[in-house]
Amino acid sequence: MEVYRELAALREALGAARGDGREVALVPTMGALHAGHIALVEAARRPGACVVASIFVNPKQFGANEDLSRYPRKEMGDITMLTDAGCDILWLPPVEAMYPEGFATNISVAGVSEGLDGAARPGHFDGVATVVAKLFNQVRPARAYFGEKDFQQLAVIRRMVADLDFDIDITGVPTQREDDGLALSSRNVYLLPEERQKAVALPRALGVAARAILGGGEAAKALADATAALTAAGFAVDYVSLVDAETLAPEPAPGRRRQLLAAARIGHTRLIDNLSVDPLS
Ligand code: AMP
Repeated sequence: MEVYRELAALREALGAARGDGREVALVPTMGALHAGHIALVEAARRPGACVVASIFVNPKQFGANEDLSRYPRKEMGDITMLTDAGCDILWLPPVEAMYPEGFATNISVAGVSEGLDGAARPGHFDGVATVVAKLFNQVRPARAYFGEKDFQQLAVIRRMVADLDFDIDITGVPTQREDDGLALSSRNVYLLPEERQKAVALPRALGVAARAILGGGEAAKALADATAALTAAGFAVDYVSLVDAETLAPEPAPGRRRQLLAAARIGHTRLIDNLSVDPLS
């Protein structure tokens, strides 16, 4: 795997790959990689592909009181994992190169960015959209891969790509989970052992709610029951919501795909998860 920290060198390598007829596929990450990230790399690896992973802990998507300074960083381990996964190129831009003095542009995707995590984390999705637009222009991939784990983020990216005519095919990759159902996340390392045990309540509560709604139960009751179950397990609940899977609007219309999304804090750690409520999925 080739590792680049300078945009000119990255562009030269990508130009050569394109010249050889290879199709560039991008997997953006913030590092501290786990099997969820590797599932994106594996999805991106197709015959003739040049798979580029990026690692950039993007300061613009962290709020003032969030975990930017203590966000886990493990570059050597990440390089080994990506190499083993068959990634071709790692793009590691320095923060000064991404946001040089005078940087003034902000990309804000209205509507889909506004509720749920957008309400709980003001400015977060502007930071995500802005950095992903930059990565798209730096790498100019034909395809890009994002996890369904960050369901709202995926919806924001899809909206931005459609609105700004990025000629990039976006693929959402299903959430990879631990054996007990907890979604893999770089932030799971924050969990104390007893918090880790309790954390399984999050996927469980979503599963129970999804089954209740699919079985014809009233959505409001299913959401209230999930909130109560999470609270009983020791979580402080930010939201448990049933939304339109594309627009993320609350109270999805009949016939639309629906998604259950939740965010809740256990100790100092904020976890998110989501589940489809779609008989076909
Ligand atoms: P992050 O490093 O947390 O910014 O995540 C980078 C990419 O990996 C995003 O597209 C995430 O949605 C995706 N991702 C993170 N965790 C998982 C998971 N458990 N399963 C699938 N994709 C994931």
